[in-house]
Amino acid sequence: MDFELTAEQKRLRDRCLELAADFATRSAAHDRDASHPIENYDRLRKEGFLHLTIPRQWGGSGFNFLSHTIAYEALGRGCPSTALAFNMHASVVMPILESDEVTIEAKRRIADLVVRQGKMIGGNFSETGHTSLIGERPLSVRARPVTGGYRITGRKMFASMIQAADYVLVLVYPESATTQTAGMLAMIPPDAEGRRVIANWDTLGMRATRSDSLILEDCFVPDESVFYRSDDIRPFRNTGASWFWGSYTAVYLGLAGAAYDELRKVVTERRPEGYAQPLAWHPDVRRHIAELSVDLDAARLITYRSAWLRDQQGPTPEATAAMFRAKYVVGVATSRITRVALTLGGAHGIFKGSRLEQLFRDGALAEIQPPPADFCLWNLGLHELGLDAVDALPPMRPL
Ligand SMILES: Cc1cc2nc3c(=O)[nH]c(=O)nc-3n(C[C@H](O)[C@H](O)[C@H](O)COP(=O)(O)OP(=O)(O)OC[C@H]3O[C@@H](n4cnc5c(N)ncnc54)[C@H](O)[C@@H]3O)c2cc1C
Repeated sequence: MDFELTAEQKRLRDRCLELAADFATRSAAHDRDASHPIENYDRLRKEGFLHLTIPRQWGGSGFNFLSHTIAYEALGRGCPSTALAFNMHASVVMPILESDEVTIEAKRRIADLVVRQGKMIGGNFSETGHTSLIGERPLSVRARPVTGGYRITGRKMFASMIQAADYVLVLVYPESATTQTAGMLAMIPPDAEGRRVIANWDTLGMRATRSDSLILEDCFVPDESVFYRSDDIRPFRNTGASWFWGSYTAVYLGLAGAAYDELRKVVTERRPEGYAQPLAWHPDVRRHIAELSVDLDAARLITYRSAWLRDQQGPTPEATAAMFRAKYVVGVATSRITRVALTLGGAHGIFKGSRLEQLFRDGALAEIQPPPADFCLWNLGLHELGLDAVDALPPMRPL
């Protein structure tokens, strides 16, 4: 197996590392203020990242999923919040462009918005009553059919970059549907009547993603702003899982790499009074670094392979299982690497403004970020044992 990156992938990675170095200079300030990193988004827009993975037939740059993974790992090293929130754009646009269930006309419209008009699109699927421990997420936000479109009412939650994006794609339940699994994706601009945001994202980590709550009150959406509708959204969700879920893994991988590098820098530079050598020479430090290097390399190889598999096979069960495996491994590795980095950084590293302190808090979200660690293992267990999810008992007693 050849793990060598192509020349094009190396150029992309280096370009992303340059951007990351710039983003890193403002990362602590955006973290402290929980502010939208607008200037970073603008830079990413200018550098063509809105259409990085959009196929060439739609006018995009046509990079594959592995290249996206390499790019977002590099971006995640600078300002993890910027990379995580900006990835929301690709994570909702790409499943639409790749789905057989979406009409060519709808694909043309979204490609036009992104490639020609340069629009940045957020996505909001989550609601207050949802848990990502369970795959099924009943939708309480309702779309009532009216002449020329729909009126949408309800409360969504965790909408990354909601006030910085040009539009948000919202998953809602069409009232005229007859099945519980129905859903519809509607695009809503910031100035839509009946749309407002509750800025309640004051969180432990990933603060600059500003994943605020979205309130829709009889908000009108014209028919042409509906990009997908189905009586059963599960196939769409499954075929798009690498984008909806797997594309975030790379950001946490980058974060873990940044914490690892920062730790090596700290222990190499810090020399305690009375000693001729820095902390790097301490045998416990060396051992910890060796262990973290194993975690990081394993996480990276599993992640790259899962992305490569997705490019080779598309959304096969094997590729989806590899996606869950990668997210699980990266989540655990990020938790461990950021925790050990904080510990070895010592009390000097726990002050606000310290890079290790911020990466520790951002990294604490790695296992929580959907798909969370337990949900990954749930799916992997079913896959490895050849069990059909529909035959598995519900984890708790249903109503
Ligand atoms: C950094 C970040 C960015 C995100 N960005 C987006 C985005 O852009 N778009 C999007 O759609 N989603 C986004 N999400 C949300 C994500 O997809 C999940 O849906 C969300 O995290 C909820 O799932 P959970 O398992 O964390 O739920 P939990 O918070 O664990 O909730 C589990 C269940 O317990 C209930 N509960 C009630 N009270 C409480 C309480 N006090 N504490 C905890 N649980 C309670 C909840 O209602 C829920 O039913 C983001 C999440 C993170 C961490």
